[in-house]
Amino acid sequence: MRDCNVIEDNPVRVDVTSAFNLQDLDLLSYDLALICHSGGKDSMAAMLWLLETGFPKERIELHHQLVDGTTSSLMDWPVSRSYVDRVGEAFGIPVFHSWREGGLEREMCRNGERTAPVSWQTIEGPIRTAGGDRGGESTRRKFPQTSANLSVRWCSAYQKIDVFARVLTNDERFQDKRVLVITGERAEESASRANYLEFEPHRTDLRNGIKVRRHVDHLRPIHKWPESKVWEIIEKWRVNPHPAYWLFYNRASCRGCIFNGPDEWATLRTHMPDAFYPIANYEAEFGVTIHRHLTVNEQADRGVPHPCTLEMLLLAESTDYYASIIVDDWKLPPGAYKRGNGPS
Ligand code: SF4
Repeated sequence: MRDCNVIEDNPVRVDVTSAFNLQDLDLLSYDLALICHSGGKDSMAAMLWLLETGFPKERIELHHQLVDGTTSSLMDWPVSRSYVDRVGEAFGIPVFHSWREGGLEREMCRNGERTAPVSWQTIEGPIRTAGGDRGGESTRRKFPQTSANLSVRWCSAYQKIDVFARVLTNDERFQDKRVLVITGERAEESASRANYLEFEPHRTDLRNGIKVRRHVDHLRPIHKWPESKVWEIIEKWRVNPHPAYWLFYNRASCRGCIFNGPDEWATLRTHMPDAFYPIANYEAEFGVTIHRHLTVNEQADRGVPHPCTLEMLLLAESTDYYASIIVDDWKLPPGAYKRGNGPS
């Protein structure tokens, strides 16, 4: 799963990039580097990689998509937004959040309605909103399904990829600039991610535009990295991983992720029932389960809850990340190298 964060399945494919060599990329030619940061280990590693290149920090931004928007709490870890904010503060990098109004819950419950508009934080301060006024009215009333196909696993597309694309295409400050979008997908994660290119024009690229020009490239700098290298760079910078890793999760994507296995559903039901039962209730209401054959309750019955500590549960369920981001006594969290719980 995970690092659901972001920009996957870019449809643009450019042959020349098959010969791409990261060392040859002229990073300093970019006005801005926008790191899509979910709070997870892979986007963290991508950010640390960029810092190690010496790329000017004043040209770096962290961009985080709120899967639940600002009014729902159905799927994501409550602490994720604050954790990314604290990461930005610790490294002196500005953080910008963006979201689809109503979050995944509204999109999932859509009944004869249009998809909601996207809102985002601007560098000037005010929240801006775009979209939501085109397209037909239609009905979903079911969870995204576990699939590599993003039209079926629509949560990644609707709550992350499209949301970030809206920001890039609607905020004028990205026009007439050379922008590098950086994401943390790794080939090791899945067969579909193995096919991603390390470098390609971003889906919002408009370098040959007539009225509007926007040069946007997409770099996946840790695409070839094994998980061990990810943890090595996080340890080197002594960054305290997202609380999900301390709760034995291998990914910090949504805690109610559709790719959760039996152990993750059992963990949610046992330790975070306020997060589990709304999902179970929606399955019952829709008459369609997330898993092809089993309800989340039936999956939880087959799993074993993670041995979570109260200390970490409280932190993960807080909307204010109150632990340290940089720690002196860095330790590998128990979620490291654990079987993954899905893509994001
Ligand atoms: S439910 Fe899972 S796949 Fe969907 S957006 Fe959340 S982390 Fe990504």
